Amino acid sequence: MTLTVAAAFEAVLQTARDLGTEIIPFEAATGRILREPVLADRPFPPYDRVMMDGIAINYDSYARGQHVFGVEDLQAAGMPQLQLSNTANCIEVMTGAILPELTDTVIPYEQLALTESDDFRRFTVHTVVKQGQHIHRLGSDVNAGAALLDSGTLIGPAEAGILAAVGKTQVLVSKLPRVAVIATGNELVPVHAIPEAHQVRISNVYSLLASLQQLGISARYIHLNDDESEMKEQLALLLSETDVWISSGAVSAGKFDYLPAVLQQLGMQQIFHKVQQRPGGPFLFGTFEQGPVVFALPGNPVSGFMCFYRYVQPWIRAAMGAVPSPPCYAQLSEKVIFETALEYYLPVKLVSRPDGTLTATPQPYQGSGDLASLLKADAFLVLPLEEKVFERGSCYPVWLFR
Ligand code: AMP
Ligand code: MG
Repeated sequence: MTLTVAAAFEAVLQTARDLGTEIIPFEAATGRILREPVLADRPFPPYDRVMMDGIAINYDSYARGQHVFGVEDLQAAGMPQLQLSNTANCIEVMTGAILPELTDTVIPYEQLALTESDDFRRFTVHTVVKQGQHIHRLGSDVNAGAALLDSGTLIGPAEAGILAAVGKTQVLVSKLPRVAVIATGNELVPVHAIPEAHQVRISNVYSLLASLQQLGISARYIHLNDDESEMKEQLALLLSETDVWISSGAVSAGKFDYLPAVLQQLGMQQIFHKVQQRPGGPFLFGTFEQGPVVFALPGNPVSGFMCFYRYVQPWIRAAMGAVPSPPCYAQLSEKVIFETALEYYLPVKLVSRPDGTLTATPQPYQGSGDLASLLKADAFLVLPLEEKVFERGSCYPVWLFR
């Protein structure tokens, strides 16, 4: 029996295997999945940090009615901590400096008037001052030893800053899978070739390689002709040293769609073939016991694209120990009718509206062979198999590819 998308997805995720970990320099870790917690080595901020350029005073003097402060010294960012020797005076302070000892309040230059005479500088305060103002207190953001990043976090720009701030120069991350992209079809020619009338350039491979690149994975690729023995021979060579195969084409009912048979002959355990979905119905999935998992995607470009984002990307993320992202939903902008009992993945343009809703607008779409339709879309809107009429304003899950 053909599986539902939910059942197929569950079967795919069940095969997600830990790919192991490696230690890499933190500068190379963006886009990778962290596999250890990262703790604050010091409090955040690590000292009472001055937040404005101006002067630091002892508030008691101000509270007693003093409004003019003679300047004793200058505390710049990067200087060891000074001390106010007379609490009736002030120290000029710069943003990022450590707050001088015996001061507890910062007044910005904008609220001060400067008078200078014989090398002596005084500031007059002309606003109301609150005790403790403009000081970013030691440990007020995060305590020393607190967990800043959990294992399973995707390392992005904010996380890169944290790794640097805590001096985490080497980080434990998931290894990336070793992926092979496999194109099939006698009609395919290299990208640099001028195709004959009956040929097409091998474009699916490059969509898949680009999708993998977004996950930080550089994959290798091969092209197989629709020839059973050549397929078997070439694929046998690929069996070792790969964790994932993503193939394109040769899994439908065509006379030359040899791939399912060849995979079986090579010892792959088929987990399912065909899913109740459009596009991507002929999707085949299996595993080799001591070898790669196999995502055999249909050749039609939109089918392969949809299957990559619906199945392959989540498998790779799960295998790398990533925390799953919550689903995203959007509101259909117009009524859609789809009568076939399949889960329908409709290419849509997403627009975020001022009222906080996300609207999904169907794009002109000629079916799964329409590669150009993806250019105007951002995501697939998932229309459930049980319904036939999808009303404007109804909300459905979306799978984003931008
Ligand atoms: P298949 O699944 O092998 O029947 O292929 C379905 C359609 O996808 C055919 O029109 C193929 O020419 C096309 N196709 C298959 N592989 C690729 C590829 N790598 N690049 C572009 N088109 C492809
Ligand atoms: Mg083919």
